[in-house]
Amino acid sequence: MRYRCECGGLLEVEADWRWRPTEARGLWRYRSLLPTLDEAPPVTLQEGGTPLVRCERLAAWAGVRELSVKVEGANPTGSFKDRGMTVGVTLARSLGMKALACASTGNTSASLAAYGARAGLPVSVLVPAGKIAAGKMAQALAFGAKVIEVEGGFDEAMSLVEQLSADGHVYLLNSLNPLRLEGQKTLLFEVLEAASPDRVVFPVGNGGNVSAAHKAIREANATGLSRATPMLTGVQAEGAAPLASGSYHPVDKAETLATAIRIGRPVNADKALRAVKETGGAFAKVSDAEIFDAQRRLAREEGLFVEPASAAPLAGLRRLVESGVVDRSESVVLVATGNGMKDPDVVSRYASPPLRTKADLPSLLKVLS
Ligand SMILES: *Cc1c(COP(=O)(O)O)cnc(C)c1O
Repeated sequence: MRYRCECGGLLEVEADWRWRPTEARGLWRYRSLLPTLDEAPPVTLQEGGTPLVRCERLAAWAGVRELSVKVEGANPTGSFKDRGMTVGVTLARSLGMKALACASTGNTSASLAAYGARAGLPVSVLVPAGKIAAGKMAQALAFGAKVIEVEGGFDEAMSLVEQLSADGHVYLLNSLNPLRLEGQKTLLFEVLEAASPDRVVFPVGNGGNVSAAHKAIREANATGLSRATPMLTGVQAEGAAPLASGSYHPVDKAETLATAIRIGRPVNADKALRAVKETGGAFAKVSDAEIFDAQRRLAREEGLFVEPASAAPLAGLRRLVESGVVDRSESVVLVATGNGMKDPDVVSRYASPPLRTKADLPSLLKVLS
């Protein structure tokens, strides 16, 4: 199979699509289903291989037979973006690219900054000014990326970085780069090796992840990795829901506190719509209040601290069960895309602040009573 990519340098790769598990840890175990240029060692931080956790209490709350959460916050920089970045940066290095860039709502920049550091390549990231979560900003800065705040939203930052890469100044590693989506296929490969769910639910921002999942199902079926054909389901926030109706309606001023999905013009809109339609899935949109309620439940009832966008699938699933779109007999996997520690500021929306005491036992007992 020939594989073509036109992001800041044309690339054609011969990929070998047979499923042959390798000894590698994490997602490079799927190397035979990933595009690679040569035998050069991957730029890796041992991403992938994340937990799939059964959640019985939340299954009852959402109203389905079986529920598991794929904990993508366990990746090296705390989100699924690392899956795409290890593949994208490996190939960028093999191709001799000298500088990397992306626009980001936060996690892509944290991830690219880390893999750029690992590869020894300079990274520039364009983020919407004042709209990225504290932990994500800290990561990008710590990894030494040049962080540029753009006066505008993600959509403006994206358009700017596309212009920059078109002139050949930098190699673009946003999710419109198909190499990223190739790496992100491994999320579904792992789910399908471990289980055969009826449905997999994603938060949808740029739509890259759900598109990658669609490709992964087709390849898993074609190569003998799995026969399962889960229905892919996307959840958006009410204030940033350009795809939630099942067709594309761009949103000019996207708004939600789930910053990772605060996107009004998804770069993978068509692919994401096709992924949901062709697998018989569905879309849902949920309010920020529902997102925070779901985030609190994941933390309090199952011990899973996820960022707001990653809680949207649970809120969306419950809505889809209530409206009869999702059947109560289904087994469902929710993709918890990012770690809660990336966005500590939102926790005060549903948790009380710490208590305080003088350093003696009677005072402590008073505070505890
Ligand atoms: C990037 C991201 C998303 C959105 O994924 P898309 O592939 O853009 O649809 C959702 N949640 C988190 C935590 C993310 O980092």
